[in-house]
Amino acid sequence: MKLLVIGCGGVAQVAIQKCCQADDVFTEILIASRTKSKCDALVEKIKDKTKAKLSTAKVDADSVDEVVALINNFKPAAVLNVALPYQDLTIMEACLKCKVDYIDTANYECENTDDPVWRAAYEKRVKEKGFTAYFDYSYQWAYDKKFKDAGVCALLGTGFDPGVTQVFCAYAQKHYFDTIETIDILDCNGGDHGYAFATNFNPEINLREVSANGSYWENGKWIETEPLEIKREYDFAQVGVKDMYLLHHEEIESLAKNIKGVKRIRFFMTFGQSYISHMNCLKNVGMLSTVPVNFEGKDIVPIQFLKALLPDPATLGERTKGKTNIGCIFTGVKDGKKKTLYIYNVCDHQECFKEVGSQAISYTTGVPAMIGTMLVCKGVWKKAGVYNCEEFDPDPYMDALNKYGLPWVVEENPDLVG
Ligand code: NDP
Repeated sequence: MKLLVIGCGGVAQVAIQKCCQADDVFTEILIASRTKSKCDALVEKIKDKTKAKLSTAKVDADSVDEVVALINNFKPAAVLNVALPYQDLTIMEACLKCKVDYIDTANYECENTDDPVWRAAYEKRVKEKGFTAYFDYSYQWAYDKKFKDAGVCALLGTGFDPGVTQVFCAYAQKHYFDTIETIDILDCNGGDHGYAFATNFNPEINLREVSANGSYWENGKWIETEPLEIKREYDFAQVGVKDMYLLHHEEIESLAKNIKGVKRIRFFMTFGQSYISHMNCLKNVGMLSTVPVNFEGKDIVPIQFLKALLPDPATLGERTKGKTNIGCIFTGVKDGKKKTLYIYNVCDHQECFKEVGSQAISYTTGVPAMIGTMLVCKGVWKKAGVYNCEEFDPDPYMDALNKYGLPWVVEENPDLVG
């Protein structure tokens, strides 16, 4: 089966190597990105380890026409988008035109949040829904009918969070609960890369997410907080006690829609004090802005300039030590009795580096990107329309997590988050 992968950054490099491990499914892979030399370097590194036939191309995925031309030329069964959330809609549009399946790991964000058309739609959505994050699923869900009519599948957000966390929810719902009442998604990175400040995935996307207002879903509506206003401590298996902060996160929106009867959904991520101090300072001086400023005759977007200064997340692997622990804590009812459950994965940064030359954040995203793509390509998770991960049978995905390097643990009666 032929697969087109768009993007060749930290996440893509893991996803592609994992697709190469499943070369009985992915027999031909075209890796296309903005900088072709990165694709060529990756092929050089991995070509002797797989039977899959690998090729590369240059593409600007902001252009629907360029992606359409690439698809028409290569004729893949599916396109895995592991570029940036800014390209989601152009790549979806191209897949629709060519009638091929579409898979991604992050929901659409607009690159220029000052664009007046986008701003007007955004202001309306903030009023209607009650959260101010720059990203939401409305843009991609709006494609559902078009994908249904075209008979193609779009699988949204098959990374770890979003992605595996929603599969954990579907699995808990299927096997452990009659009703899930609360979900706490806990994302802990206990890794240390030794830099005073660096982000584990694309800095622009990461810093926009963390510096924004937090929010959670309770009793049918969104409750918004100041950035990093809600802080809790949790003792994570194999990592230890960490501070974690409540963030807005995209899977809350789809879980609120798809897990019937859920009363509260929250998302927490761990951060060290050094990360937070650096981020606040950069925010205060305007370095996280996406609005161009003119510097000595040239327009510069501050956060993109910052990205050029920070370590490339794809290079952190060699230096990062420690483990991640990401999962979901559920409370609810089974057979008339109250019940609590924790499903999580622990992933070791150094083990990931040994296997694929990347740190665990890229690994925990790239492996599920491959698994979602594989299930769509094999027809196991294929339905015409636009879907999130909790809308399919979780069992084959959970089996694949065990097989491809992200084994999970089910723990009854865990400590709950206050
Ligand atoms: P990187 O910045 O490392 O890589 C992005 C890649 O996309 C680069 O190869 C870049 O090319 C390419 N690219 C950017 N713009 C274009 C364009 N217009 N046309 C073609 N290619 C383009 O990002 P990451 O690998 O860290 O992240 C990839 C995705 O994964 C993001 O969407 C991120 O939000 C998502 N993610 C999801 C997670 C989850 O758990 N669900 C967790 C972490 C990340 P170039 O080399 O030229 O810069």
